[in-house]
Order: sequence, then C-alpha cells, then structure tokens
Amino acid sequence: MMPLRFVQKIRHRIDDDHHWLSRQKLAVFGATLIVIGISMGAFESGQTPPDNTNYTEIVELTLPDRLAPSRGAVDDRAVDQWDSVVVRSGQTLDTIFQQQGLSISLLHRILAVNKDTQGLTKIRPGETFEFRKDPNGDLLQMRYLLDEARYLLVRNENGVLSAEIQHRQIIVEINETEGVINSSLFLAARKAGLSDAMIMKLANIFGWDIDFVLDIRQGDRFMLVYERLFSEGEFLRDGNILAATFINQGERFQAIYFEDGEVSAYFAPDGRNMRKAFLRAPLNFSYISSSFNPRRMHPVLKRILPHNGIDYHAPRGTPVYAAGDGTVIRSDYSRANGHHVFIKHANSIQTKYLHLTRRLVKMGQRVSQGQTIGYVGSTGLATGPHLHYEFVVNGVHRNPRTVSLPKVESLKGATLKTFQTHAAPMLTQLSRLESTSLYAKRE
Ligand SMILES: [Zn+2]
Repeated sequence: MMPLRFVQKIRHRIDDDHHWLSRQKLAVFGATLIVIGISMGAFESGQTPPDNTNYTEIVELTLPDRLAPSRGAVDDRAVDQWDSVVVRSGQTLDTIFQQQGLSISLLHRILAVNKDTQGLTKIRPGETFEFRKDPNGDLLQMRYLLDEARYLLVRNENGVLSAEIQHRQIIVEINETEGVINSSLFLAARKAGLSDAMIMKLANIFGWDIDFVLDIRQGDRFMLVYERLFSEGEFLRDGNILAATFINQGERFQAIYFEDGEVSAYFAPDGRNMRKAFLRAPLNFSYISSSFNPRRMHPVLKRILPHNGIDYHAPRGTPVYAAGDGTVIRSDYSRANGHHVFIKHANSIQTKYLHLTRRLVKMGQRVSQGQTIGYVGSTGLATGPHLHYEFVVNGVHRNPRTVSLPKVESLKGATLKTFQTHAAPMLTQLSRLESTSLYAKRE
C-alpha cells in the first residue's frame, strides 16, 4: 500500500510574545471545532447548518476535507477495541496470554499456524502485541508489530486460525518550523519542536558550508519543511527534511531534497549539490553545541595566527571525522602532537588532526568523508582536550573555513529543469516562513 500524503501546516512558535500568531492559531482551532460541530450536527439531523456566518468562516479558512473527521472514522474506532500489551523484560508470550485470559493451548495452536507465527517464540522487551476479543473474552484477532510499517495479524474465525503479514498505513504529514538561535542551536531547535535527530540531520545538510562548532552566532535563524510519520493516529517519528534555510551570520544557505532516478541528495536552489569535498568542521558538533556559549566565541582568526590551525575545544572523546575522502599518510604519536593523524586528499590537499586521545586508523588506510578516525584528547603539548586541525594546500597552511574548495557536480539539463520545478514551491514556502519570522521578530 502506498503511503498516503496530505499537507497540514503547523507552526511552532519560538517566542511566546507573538500574540498575533497565537490568536491566529486559536482562530483556526476554533473554526476546526465549528467544522466538527456542523458536520456532525448535519449528519445526525440531516439538516443544513443553521448558521451561515459560521459556514462562511470555514470556507475562508479552506480546511482540507480529509482533515475534517467523518462519522464513519469515529465509529470504526469505537468498534475496533484493541488491548495493547508492551512486552516487559523477562515476559514470555505464555505469561501475556495468561494475563489476557487466553489459554496456552490456543497459543500453541497459533504458533503452529505458519512460519511467521513460529517467530512469535522470540519476542523482545518493548515489542507490542494487540488483542481484540469478543464479549465472551474469546480471541478474535491478535496483532504483533514487526516494525513500524508491518504487523503480523492472526485471525480466529470460529476456531479456525489464520495468519498473515499486513502493512500499516503510514501517513506522512508535511510540517514546517522555524527558529532563532539565542543560546544554542539545540535549544532553539527543541523550541521549534525538533528532535535531536532532526537537528543532526539539519546540521548534516549544511555541514559542508557552515562550521557548526565555531560559526554559529546569536541571531542565526533556520526554517525547515520536514516530514512527520504517523500510523493509526499515533506519531511514529520524524522523517526527512524536504527543504531548509539556514541564515548564518547574515549569509543565507538553502537546500532542497531531490530524488530523480539515481540522484537522491540535497541541492542548492541553483542545482549545486550541497555535498562538498571537505566538511567545514571535522568533528561531531553535537558534543560541543550542547554547551555553546556565544560570549565565549572569538573571531577565529585570532586563534589561527599563532599556530597555523584551528583549535576546536571539545570534550574528551568527541568523535573526530575525516574532513574528506583520502588516504592516511601518518598515524602516530609524538611528544608535541600527541596521537595524530595526517590524511592526503586529491588536489594536493592534506588535513592534520592532533592531540587525539585515541586513533582508529592506520597508515596507508583509505578513509571516506565523515569516517571517525579518532577521538578528541589532550595528548602531546595540549593544556586541555581539543582538536588541533590543519588544512594544507600545496604545502601552505590555509584557513579551512574560508579556503575555496574544489567544485562538486551540479544538476544539468533536463534534471536541473525537473529539480527547479520541484524546488520552486519549497522555496516559496521557505521565504514565507522567513518573512513571518522576521515580522514576528520586529514586533
Ligand atoms: Zn592548536
């Protein structure tokens, strides 16, 4: 079954003092209640809505039809009474059946139905079983969630057992949100209703352009359009980010997710792939950003001058990534550098990673971008845990955050046209989000 898609716009407000939006939200909420009231009322009595004023209001708001609950949907839920049981540690299906008032002989007959039901002997804590019974307490159906998209359905029709794997209907809701960074990206993102996993997704999309450790400033803003997955009215998880804007120190970066044949990646509005040959910050920023303090931020140049590199102060154990694809040309220990790794890349570029607590790669080993090559430490001449990172082009130290990097592939021809058609409404949505957030800020 194909996932059903519908669009629902939900705004997460960042600041509480923007009353006009709260009011607007309330108005929509009120109108939704009216729709329910009228549709139910009309259904019950077979009459047209008595109040034309309310009706006009609904039309103006153009709520999608399928968001209005139908009487049928409500009834289905009332009849479909499932008892849900989450497997606890040490629990077996025997004990679950006993608790449900079902016989062990029924369980054994179920296990014998087919290969799928035989698998029920290997259940794990946290898994879910659902039971539907008749008024006498006899089993009608049992469901076992295999994963978020499939379940095993066991039917008992007058003592005849059958079992089959069924697909759950996954509803993908398109959501939008925006935020302003006041103290940390993580805090702003949480206020915007985003999970930590989504923040990492957002950071990974822009990780080639923005150094999320050193470049983030108070007042930076983000807007995104993303998926939320639901099944049977229950929130499953966040899905993909479809489009996003990140405004970093006044510079606007935008990315749109695009799939076309073998292509599946994030692209800038002009069709350039967001992925580049080098990551801006070669370490997992989530270890650092959680303790981000804008007052401690210094202009990076001041740090670069003394020693030809960038120091990323980070907790011991923060994963250090290979900034780009390449070959390890040195993985060693010295009194000055401590545990260190040098990587040789294309275009006569070398990257160097010093003071690691532990190295995970050997000399001569090929590494790919984003691969963990070691962990932040304070070995060698280091006063505290930090990554000393150097970027060398043709033997000359360069600032990896400003050096122009090798160009990457761009979309061309017909694919570019398809992408631009796909991107246009997304970009409109993002710029609307951006102007709303600006308006709210000025208020
Ligand atoms: Zn240093």
